[in-house]
Amino acid sequence: MVDTQPTVTQATLVKKAAPKSDYKPADVSPQRRVQRSYTIRLWSIRHSRLLEWFYSRFADAFLLLHPLWKGIGYGRVEAPIKFVEKRVKGLMFDCRMCGQCVLSSTGMSCPMNCPKQLRNGPCGGVRANGNCEVEPDMPCVWVKAWEGSRNMVNGDAILNVQKPVDQSLRETSAWLRVTAQAAATRETASKEVA
Ligand code: SF4
Repeated sequence: MVDTQPTVTQATLVKKAAPKSDYKPADVSPQRRVQRSYTIRLWSIRHSRLLEWFYSRFADAFLLLHPLWKGIGYGRVEAPIKFVEKRVKGLMFDCRMCGQCVLSSTGMSCPMNCPKQLRNGPCGGVRANGNCEVEPDMPCVWVKAWEGSRNMVNGDAILNVQKPVDQSLRETSAWLRVTAQAAATRETASKEVA
């Protein structure tokens, strides 16, 4: 026999246990995000392969400019680069500027949009329709991450275990960090060859 009982999620239990109140916020989820704000995020995930290709070229171009960043000083260019990064990634991915970007490993779905900020896959509360248990109107970022990763050339990177978020890197530029790290790796490799 098929079980037709609706699944009771943790969020429902918490909601039921909450003290009664006359104040009910209208039309917003606890984190004040509404459904229409997911449109561009979902577009980015659907076009993860294109964005993967684009980001690879973008990262190469940024690395080529390493002498320029170094000449001016990474510290000095941080503010303008961060300004652009925050706006571009904010628009496309609802980026939260964690400073340790893993979009390439998560199907272009930003894990920091998970209300529990899980970096290694979904919790056990994904709804039957694939939405989040905490924000019922939001598709689970990890369900979307898996879908996005399946379109990508290096999509299996989603299986890599991610480190916990280093909160000290919040509001810093992931673009500059990745570039400086790649430049350092390249310099070390060229010294070993010489
Ligand atoms: S993983 Fe971090 S840097 Fe990348 S989009 Fe999400 S919040 Fe922004």
